[in-house]
Amino acid sequence: MVLKLAVQKGGRLHEDSIQLLKDCGISVKNGHNQLKSTAENFPLEVYFLRDDDIPQYVEDAVAHIGIVGENVLLEKNKQVDTVEPLGFGKCRLSFAVPKGETYTNSTYLQGKKIATSYPFITQQFLKEKGIQAEIHEISGSVELAPSIGLADVVCDLVSSGSTLFMNGLKEVETILKSQAVLIKNKGLGSEQQQLLDKLLFRIRSVRKAKN
Ligand code: ATP
Ligand code: ZN
Repeated sequence: MVLKLAVQKGGRLHEDSIQLLKDCGISVKNGHNQLKSTAENFPLEVYFLRDDDIPQYVEDAVAHIGIVGENVLLEKNKQVDTVEPLGFGKCRLSFAVPKGETYTNSTYLQGKKIATSYPFITQQFLKEKGIQAEIHEISGSVELAPSIGLADVVCDLVSSGSTLFMNGLKEVETILKSQAVLIKNKGLGSEQQQLLDKLLFRIRSVRKAKN
């Protein structure tokens, strides 16, 4: 019996995910060119995947548990349970407009073209506010969209805001605050649940010791 964990293969969550396991006393060989690795001292198999695919894999029980940003989790809207916030990968999903614009509230967005990699979350926000706008989904370099005339507004992930600033944009409204979370499949067997409980106990101890 092993617990299968999906983590990001590279990118911003990879190192912190592996470090968390290490802090829990679980060593995993680095998987940069590997899809899968077996931990040495815990019944754990680690799968290295694109973060976008992690919610689906956990819903399908290809992996029992996963580490992913809340932003991706909400956007993918899959049927999984959130187990625990992990305190890293902190960022926010925000609207940004060209520096010279005056934005007082979300009614500014009415009738605008919005570029984003998060069409589902963005649309939900607009719907709640009763705003009609045109959403253009783009998968990367969203902050370039206004300067090339593709959009009036962007809805993008921000941590420091420097990328926006360098592209002549300013952050005007945050719609989601996000961090990495541990998720699990909804139908875990009791043996996997026991392993998860053991892992979770260690994660909580590690996080408590750090605070
Ligand atoms: P992949 O190749 O796995 O699809 P990616 O390019 O989609 O990677 P990364 O840029 O590595 O993703 O970001 C992974 C996650 O890190 C984000 O979904 C988010 O939860 C978190 N994150 C933290 N800070 C930032 C930031 N400033 N910009 C983007 N993502 C951030
Ligand atoms: Zn991704």
